[in-house]
Amino acid sequence: MDLATNLEALRTRVAAACDRAGRNPATVTLLPVSKGQPPEVVRAAADLGLTVFGENKVQEAKAKIPLCPGRLRWEMIGHLQTNKVRDAVHFFARIQSVDSLHLAEEIQRQAEKAAQTVPVLLEVNVAGEANKFGYAPAQLLAELADLNAFPRLEIHGLMGMAPWTPDPEKARPVFRRLRELRDACASQLGAPLPELSMGMTGDFEVAIEEGATVIRIGTALFGERPPAPRLRAG
Ligand SMILES: *Cc1c(COP(=O)(O)O)cnc(C)c1O
Repeated sequence: MDLATNLEALRTRVAAACDRAGRNPATVTLLPVSKGQPPEVVRAAADLGLTVFGENKVQEAKAKIPLCPGRLRWEMIGHLQTNKVRDAVHFFARIQSVDSLHLAEEIQRQAEKAAQTVPVLLEVNVAGEANKFGYAPAQLLAELADLNAFPRLEIHGLMGMAPWTPDPEKARPVFRRLRELRDACASQLGAPLPELSMGMTGDFEVAIEEGATVIRIGTALFGERPPAPRLRAG
């Protein structure tokens, strides 16, 4: 794997997608997803100028972050259990995966204790996939006012995923619905919700065309993830 080459290729593809959509590439942030990757790989990416990384498990992040350069920032992109919120608030600069009022309440509680505010995105399961976390759109609209009332949470926007498909065009209506839902939420709140975190290795170009401001990229940057370490038998 040559990280520099992958990054260069990614930036070229991002620029082309922006060009097609008439967008300025500076409006699209690449969030490298370092889950499954060791600290050496994060360090190599940091040497190329990347400064914010995404992780999907608190346990893994907690072990990895202290071994990485201290100037990096981290975002939580995976499902968060309430018993891990304290660590998440400590380790992450933003939590992209707020998917219930209950979780938001706990983030509020821990943020209050730590005397800090927590930037968050609200995760939406637009396609209603049974194996994914995230708000159903109607539920999100119903709870939005309550979510917005937590003084320690700063809602930046929405996060979502399209169902896996070999044909990225199939993801387009899902991304479009997420953007429309973001617009509906912003108008309900009477405040802008600038961030739209959508698009991964297989579908980020379509996501950019549909308005993504953050694309979360693992494989296209780092290559295939190493297999998860297995517990020793016996
Ligand atoms: C792993 C992961 C990604 C990145 O996936 P790739 O297909 O490897 O780019 C993006 N978002 C979330 C929530 C993930 O868990």
